[in-house]
Amino acid sequence: MIVTCPNCSKKYQIAEDKLAGKSRRLRCKNCREVFIIHPPKEESASPAAAIDERAARFARVLASDMLIYNKDAVEQALGTGNLFETMAGEIERSWQLWKSRFPEAAGNEEGVNVFRRSLKDILAGGDDQFDQWKPE
Ligand SMILES: [Zn+2]
Repeated sequence: MIVTCPNCSKKYQIAEDKLAGKSRRLRCKNCREVFIIHPPKEESASPAAAIDERAARFARVLASDMLIYNKDAVEQALGTGNLFETMAGEIERSWQLWKSRFPEAAGNEEGVNVFRRSLKDILAGGDDQFDQWKPE
């Protein structure tokens, strides 16, 4: 990153990892002004977006686990169209686990959509049996 002395405008190239996420004082070699430099902001958008990505990944992991551990039951239920009823207990347990890890995501409609989408895409293989799913 490039920092500029606020007094004489001399520019310095600072290695970002030297800052290690902390603000530092720097003395300008040109005019001896001392000023504070701040580490650059995280480039990957807002913390909320980062949480959402982690939440989405965890939702997919939970859905995969449900599928792996209940493969036969899931396949059978997909055929008869009662996957939701068959897996209700497992889904509820997964939802509670997900909610405990990501209470913010679980508390809004978009988060519920993320969880529902992982059920649909992974557990139901794209079948729309979970379109009406809502947390209790
Ligand atoms: Zn200076």
